[in-house]
Amino acid sequence: MAQKKYVYFYGVSKELTEGDSSMKAILGGKGANLAEMANANLPVPPGITISTEACAYYSKTGGKYAPEMEKQLKVQLKKLEVNMGKKLGDPKNPLLVSVRSGAAVSMPGMMDTVLNLGLTDKSVLGFVEQCGNERTGWDCYRRFIDMFGDVVMGPYTGLTHHDFEVELEAIKKKYRAKEDTDLTAEQLKELVGIYKKVYQNKVKKPFPQDPIEQLDLSIRAVFGSWGSERAEKYRQINKINGLLGTAVNICTMVFGNMGAKSGTGVAFTRDGGTGHSKPMGEYLIDAQGEDVVAGIRTPRHLDDMPDEESKVWKKVHTDLLKIMARLEKHYKYPQDVEFTVQEGKLFMLQTRNAKRTGLAGVRWAVEMATGKDFYTGESQPKILTQKEALMSLSGEDLEQLLFPIFDIIAEKKGKVITAGLPAGPGAAVGKIVFEAADAEAAVAKNADEKVVLVRHETSPEDVGGMWAAQGVLTSTGGMTSHAAVVARGWGKCCICGAGSLKIDYKEKTVTIAGKVYKQGDWISLNGSTGNVYAGQIPTQVSPVVSAVVDGKASAKKDPIYKMYEQVSKWSDANRTINVRTNADTPKDSKAARSFGAEGIGLCRTEHMFFEGDRIWAIREFILAEDQKARKAALAKLLKHQQKDFEGIFKAMDGLPVTVRLLDPPLHEFVPNSKKDQQEMAKRLGVPLKKVTERVQELHEFNPMLGHRGCRLSITFPELCVMQTQAIIGAACKVAKAKKPVKVLPEIMIPLIGTKAELDFLEKIVRTQAEAVIAKTGVKVNYLVGTMIEIPRAALTADEIAETAEFFSFGTNDLTQMTFGYSRDDIGTFLPDYLNEKILPSDPFQHLDQTGVGQLVKMGVKLGRETRPDLKCGICGEHGGDPESVKFCVKAGLNYVSCSPYRVPIARLAAAQAAIKG
Ligand code: ADP
Ligand code: MG
Ligand code: MG
Repeated sequence: MAQKKYVYFYGVSKELTEGDSSMKAILGGKGANLAEMANANLPVPPGITISTEACAYYSKTGGKYAPEMEKQLKVQLKKLEVNMGKKLGDPKNPLLVSVRSGAAVSMPGMMDTVLNLGLTDKSVLGFVEQCGNERTGWDCYRRFIDMFGDVVMGPYTGLTHHDFEVELEAIKKKYRAKEDTDLTAEQLKELVGIYKKVYQNKVKKPFPQDPIEQLDLSIRAVFGSWGSERAEKYRQINKINGLLGTAVNICTMVFGNMGAKSGTGVAFTRDGGTGHSKPMGEYLIDAQGEDVVAGIRTPRHLDDMPDEESKVWKKVHTDLLKIMARLEKHYKYPQDVEFTVQEGKLFMLQTRNAKRTGLAGVRWAVEMATGKDFYTGESQPKILTQKEALMSLSGEDLEQLLFPIFDIIAEKKGKVITAGLPAGPGAAVGKIVFEAADAEAAVAKNADEKVVLVRHETSPEDVGGMWAAQGVLTSTGGMTSHAAVVARGWGKCCICGAGSLKIDYKEKTVTIAGKVYKQGDWISLNGSTGNVYAGQIPTQVSPVVSAVVDGKASAKKDPIYKMYEQVSKWSDANRTINVRTNADTPKDSKAARSFGAEGIGLCRTEHMFFEGDRIWAIREFILAEDQKARKAALAKLLKHQQKDFEGIFKAMDGLPVTVRLLDPPLHEFVPNSKKDQQEMAKRLGVPLKKVTERVQELHEFNPMLGHRGCRLSITFPELCVMQTQAIIGAACKVAKAKKPVKVLPEIMIPLIGTKAELDFLEKIVRTQAEAVIAKTGVKVNYLVGTMIEIPRAALTADEIAETAEFFSFGTNDLTQMTFGYSRDDIGTFLPDYLNEKILPSDPFQHLDQTGVGQLVKMGVKLGRETRPDLKCGICGEHGGDPESVKFCVKAGLNYVSCSPYRVPIARLAAAQAAIKG
């Protein structure tokens, strides 16, 4: 049987190199990319990579090497020695190596690198002779003892870098050396002696003088660090699952600390903050390894390199830029590289995909695919195809372009006081208020006033205050809580379920981590991360929103807007599914349309019931004793509703509009506080007792499973009558206006569980619609369909499709009812479920494709068996979640519908799904 391969060689030549960048899972990111660079004949110091599988073996066996690994390592080490013409520990001509960790994804928390391994009291002399520089030799040795002591032995002896650092400072003081580089060879040699004592004191053993033992201890330390608490924690927080372990890279040393023609640095092919295509980087002359990032000396800027005193740097600069350009083209992604220059010769030590902001991601994508700088118009190499550019982006990247964001540097400096769910994106800064009314009042008094509404949760009564506020922060509720859904609809910043908030409405204070914040104190929210900051963090407005929503001409010239437009165009050219929006006002509809919405997938009529006087009409309806009184109350609502629909139809001229009949339980429309109930009694001219009794009657133990949805209209058919009259009345009116509007209304009956429920209401809807059409004499085409949001509806979709002309999957309720999780209460146990990996993610954010998704697929399939041209869409919050959108494409839906500000993100996700196929 063939032996399992655990140890790979790279460098010297393409022929000797055994891996490539496709092998990240086995060689780790660092090892795979070192091999890839060696394959491309780039100057990489040769080395060996021990695979992540060897680490897995080591972890599983509680610290044993795989027997094949030990054998293979010996063979590969020999190969390295032969090719380098040096031997580990050789007193005349020693080979020195670094030992580096590297998992498949870059992961802080893993073991730090050890440089200069192989130095001993004997080999240091050979090394000095070989490099002809006594200072370099002793400098390397003292660094090695420090790193080995700290990184390899530290975890179980308590030895730290600091223990060595104090001795370094002491000797610098003793010899009045300002910088480390001012120490002479003799002084460094003295320091090595001191370091060895420091080591022996803590480790209780002398510093190992056998390079094989040094290497063995280092490999074990790397493997061991995989299971360390901080590495585990990091993987948990960042949801990194399914990796085998870390690889170990043993790399031949190259020396940046050999004087004025040597140095080390890091560079990026493009700017990861702004996205600018100019390479940038930093380096230090006469330095090794992490000196650049350690902040020991101030590094120099890459642009200054050609002007260095030593002439070698000019060529190094040219070579480096050439290599970086090659790497970027090769990986089709901007790179972050590490390099070292040894006596004028450049070596590449690492390359990886660079980290970036959303703005940089978009700029990289469009510039790399168009070959044009969006700011200056200058040309640059075309590296990506349109499709590749789209695939390189994420929904979050686009999202960052659409919302006000914090100044990156200022946010870094800010203090996170607590965190919650990132429920509504963007940044918000304002003074704390606790009541919606206070928020409204503050802004009414001074339009420039900035407030943040802080509450346990919000309810439909609070929408005015939520609109007035810059952002909303709640202590309970999840991603589909009232606050979250409403805020996302407006593109407003919102953080939900920040459980550590202790709000005292009476005192008007909120206590966070023991500190009390009063009404009027400043607070800043990052709704894209969920972080909450004390004080004011500066923000910037999105030019995309200014251009798209406000139609500002100057914003349309902004390169950020142009990039957004480019991405959107490409998305539309590639996608196969329509994108609609969830909107219930003409204003939101207009905004959504300018973001590219191709119709309304969900117009929630109840949102129209809260504005102004309307709430009084609906309350009158609720209190009414008989159908006559109910009809009278509804008559007052009719003209308002019809006006709203007229506005929406005009905004969506030529596009379909799905209107859902009243859905929420009626108790949501009556006040809870005594004071408000008194006001209600007075205003409607009834005794208080009647109000309180009715409120009590409306109380339900499980309102989400109670008297709501189609059940309301079955009890009160006059509701369905009024709403149909309003919808079709509006449609006829705008259709026959002087400037006729093309209307395509789709009337949607919610919460159907049986075909009979649908049939009952469909009849009423059709009768009323036909009557209006006959009366106005305008021929308006309309559809009657239903939401599939109760599992029984999905299971009997073939029957339901006999009546329904379209399906819209209401995945919020469908998730709630399939799992049996109340979406308003999931916050109490979801964190435990995520921690224990009982759920992979919040199913209200990311559609559960295995369970809920199956019901969607089944619903589509059964429905189309009955009615082949059945129009199917999704209108839950999932319609704006990229992964869920991709699922919808596969499930054969005709459209997804999401809140207006998520439309561009859904367009991108739909294109990505189509490209991936
Ligand atoms: P990290 O993953 O933390 O970046 P690395 O293993 O890349 O750790 O290395 C830390 C530093 O040491 C980097 O600056 C790297 O360039 C340098 N380094 C690593 N191996 C060598 C080597 N063989 N020769 C010279 N410098 C090296
Ligand atoms: Mg490091
Ligand atoms: Mg590195």
